[in-house]
Amino acid sequence: MAAAVLHAVQIAVKSRKLNRIDRWKVMETVLEEFKTLFNNNSYKLTGQRREVLELLVENRSLTMSAEEIYHMLRKRKSKIGLATIYRALSVLDKLKLVEKVYYDGCMRYRYIGSEKEQAYAHFVCEACGCVLNLQPEFLTLLKEKARNEKGFVVTFHKIKLMGLCNNCYHKEIKLQRKENR
Ligand SMILES: [Zn+2]
Repeated sequence: MAAAVLHAVQIAVKSRKLNRIDRWKVMETVLEEFKTLFNNNSYKLTGQRREVLELLVENRSLTMSAEEIYHMLRKRKSKIGLATIYRALSVLDKLKLVEKVYYDGCMRYRYIGSEKEQAYAHFVCEACGCVLNLQPEFLTLLKEKARNEKGFVVTFHKIKLMGLCNNCYHKEIKLQRKENR
């Protein structure tokens, strides 16, 4: 998802002062990206799927059940039915746009955005392309250091450490030794 679009999503989410029409315009930009994602996966971004997605994007800090989504959409004068919401959520889940968690007696959904929007911290091997996750302790330590030493509060992260994995590193060493003989 392009940076401009991400920015548009952030505006749409942060600025609750935006009126309905402005918010709709912002969503229009974002929805172009969603349409492509749906099409690429042989799904259609129907009006009702779009209503559900819009609501989830606007409330991305919330984890909502299908029934809560239903009531919120009904308040907006939507004619959507609960069964349609369940089906829409299943599609959004397949497209990895939402995170599912079971608590408080039911399945709940939260918009997590496209892969590019998601936080990550990992090592990437430049030789074989394998990805290893950075241990969460390192991340916590880094965040604590940023807070304590710079007064910086980390809200989001994308950390990619490039290098060689254990296998590739040892292959490389062997190769160098051969060459040096
Ligand atoms: Zn490797």
